[in-house]
Amino acid sequence: MAKKEAKPRKFQAIRGTRDLLPPETALWNRVEQTAHEVFATFGFGEIRPPIVESTELFARAVGGETDIVSKEMYTFEPKLEFFRENFRSVDEAMQSEGRLVRALELVAVFSENLTSALQLKQMAENRETVEAAEALEKLVIESIERRNAGESQPDDNWRALLNRAEQLLWSVDLGGRESLRPEGTAGVCRAYIEHNMQQLPQPVKLYYIGPMFRRERPQKGRYRQFYQIGAEILGGPDAPAIDAELIEMLMTFFEKLKLQGVELAINSIGCPQCRPKYVHALREKLLEFRDRLGEDSRRRIETNPLRVLDSKLTSEQEIIALLPKIADYLCEDCRAHYEAVKHQLELRGVIYRENWRLVRGLDYYMRTTFEITAQGLGSQNAVCGGGRYDGLVELLGGPPTKGIGFAIGEDRLILSIQESGKGAAPQGRAVYIAWMGERAYATAIRAAKDLRKAGFRVELPPTELRFGKALERASKLGSRFALILGDNEVADGQWTLKTLADGSQQKLTEQALLEYLLKV
Ligand code: AMP
Repeated sequence: MAKKEAKPRKFQAIRGTRDLLPPETALWNRVEQTAHEVFATFGFGEIRPPIVESTELFARAVGGETDIVSKEMYTFEPKLEFFRENFRSVDEAMQSEGRLVRALELVAVFSENLTSALQLKQMAENRETVEAAEALEKLVIESIERRNAGESQPDDNWRALLNRAEQLLWSVDLGGRESLRPEGTAGVCRAYIEHNMQQLPQPVKLYYIGPMFRRERPQKGRYRQFYQIGAEILGGPDAPAIDAELIEMLMTFFEKLKLQGVELAINSIGCPQCRPKYVHALREKLLEFRDRLGEDSRRRIETNPLRVLDSKLTSEQEIIALLPKIADYLCEDCRAHYEAVKHQLELRGVIYRENWRLVRGLDYYMRTTFEITAQGLGSQNAVCGGGRYDGLVELLGGPPTKGIGFAIGEDRLILSIQESGKGAAPQGRAVYIAWMGERAYATAIRAAKDLRKAGFRVELPPTELRFGKALERASKLGSRFALILGDNEVADGQWTLKTLADGSQQKLTEQALLEYLLKV
């Protein structure tokens, strides 16, 4: 019986990622183009930081205890891991000459990779690792010499050598030193420091657009690769007008996109001076209600009590209403700053709602925090989050620097626009060129070139089609016009233009055709 041929595997985009396809990508481009335009009018310049950064940067900036860093980052294991995984055990290597040789080869490759990783500074150069690399190299040389001397049967000498090699292999700290960025602010601050941007006129206003990566549970409006449009203002004073203008810019952007049901919520979460008193009071109160809280909130009493305020659990809402409010704990400076931000928003005609429960998931925020929700998104209805983070640049080794920024979830923004029926309509071709015959084809190529130069979307079929078939294709592609070029048209210099919506036809010279199309 003939063996059934194995079907080649069908690949699919991995969980939590997706293809963005036409015509939807036209909407993505429109949104991004609007961001470029609006942000430029507020004096922002675009920054394109890398998508991979050192893991440590995110741990330091976002906070090692946050879900994002502790659970959701895509972190690269150096490729040395492969060799360590394949070196099973010394006992196994001692089973035959072949296995011994294979194990020795693995040790040699591991050693070579380790040495080059250290030379290329892909790994931390701690003393233990450097010593292990040197010792492994010696072991590899020793094993080559032994094999050259004809010793390749498993014996106690080889066992001792492999035992030493294994010990060294496991003493190397492979670490996951690089991660895909889960958010944009850390990289922008790193770049601000790295390029000495504090020497530029302050503040420096930057924005970015691009993919972020978090290994979250995928659902509607939540992906593992998602896109953010973010902006940061670094340096200069912490004048409340800066906070308000940043928010004004956001609202202008959403207005331009005609985003529906936009609601801005703001809060102040105090500063490192006053917030600890609030967190303490919050924790005390939460402990009183401990038994009535869910598992997550109970854990957060210790780890991050502010996050309890985020809870959406119906059973916890009554308790949350009884918790102390941050407004009662703000220090004089924070209170004044918050009042001034509200005043500045009013001066700009920005409508806001205060929400004392608004805290942000990331550690670096202080004082002003804000969130914007839009319609049509179900439970994941936040399209934008942001706030002030005055300590962050310093935390990353830079000079004391004020900072404030936001990140818009572009996927959700697009979803909301689509749900309100304002998405991109598929764009058909403006002109479909139906040609027949060699001579007409040459004319068709020239016509396509000229029309495209004038900016029209033109479809030129690559092979000859009968006119009936060509017109059928033209209408399937949503073309507005069909330009019919056959022997007669070429001979007379009178081209036929068919308007597909009503089937009407007219004869035009080449020049008249271009003029006509530019007018309609
Ligand atoms: P964050 O960086 O967590 O403050 O998030 C800022 C915004 O990014 C949120 O308001 C969402 O709109 C969006 N966002 C965050 N995580 C995801 C995700 N996994 N998928 C899609 N959008 C997200």
